[in-house]
Amino acid sequence: MRSSDSIAARLADIRGRMDAAARRASRRADDVRLIAVSKMVSADAVREAAAAGHVAFGENRVQEAAAKLGALADLPLEWHLIGHLQSNKAKPAAAAFSWIDSVHSVELVTKLDAAAVQLGKRLDVLIQVDLAREATKYGVPETGLRAVVDAAMAASALDLRGLMVIPPIPGTAEASRPWFRRLRTLRDALVAEGRPARVLAELSMGMSDDFEVAIEEGATLVRVGTAIFGRRPAP
Ligand SMILES: *Cc1c(COP(=O)(O)O)cnc(C)c1O
Repeated sequence: MRSSDSIAARLADIRGRMDAAARRASRRADDVRLIAVSKMVSADAVREAAAAGHVAFGENRVQEAAAKLGALADLPLEWHLIGHLQSNKAKPAAAAFSWIDSVHSVELVTKLDAAAVQLGKRLDVLIQVDLAREATKYGVPETGLRAVVDAAMAASALDLRGLMVIPPIPGTAEASRPWFRRLRTLRDALVAEGRPARVLAELSMGMSDDFEVAIEEGATLVRVGTAIFGRRPAP
């Protein structure tokens, strides 16, 4: 592998692009964090990213992640579950992850909270919003969002941190912009209704192809996989 192709070099390149996007939007670079999406990526590659100083990683399947997290348990990493979570996997998810970024129902809030209480830990959570109302996309529709937000705020072992969105498969980064803007507007509305800004401070939006646009629109967490670890094999 040429050094310009190393994971460390790609991380540095993305960090530079993130900082430039933040500057364009008159935002502080420190206000945007990178989640390196390591699904289908080996534990060794994660170790390489960690050696380059990277801390936050995202996985989309509880079972795949559990094995990998076990192999990396010696490292002080911050693991985010970013993929769809079924309520019956709430317990193993709560055990393995420190952030659950794809909370989508009151039922799941209840199950995660019970699991966290039992484990004696606290969980940071984001609520995934399905803005496009597509049959294939997960997340809570806007009509059900307030009930999930308020349930998460009332939960005893969950710390609500914000919202997450995956736009419909975009043709270009610009095609994602209206969805990113809509998530921010929705968050602002939830705060204007009286909820503390602190519990809705995070907006997780933007992936390899559109993270710069997401930052221009207010993302505080971007989830980047391919641009760091290379193309994944087809599932
Ligand atoms: C895979 C995945 C990503 C990363 O996508 P890339 O295009 O590889 O950057 C981000 N978010 C979610 C929810 C994912 O499943």
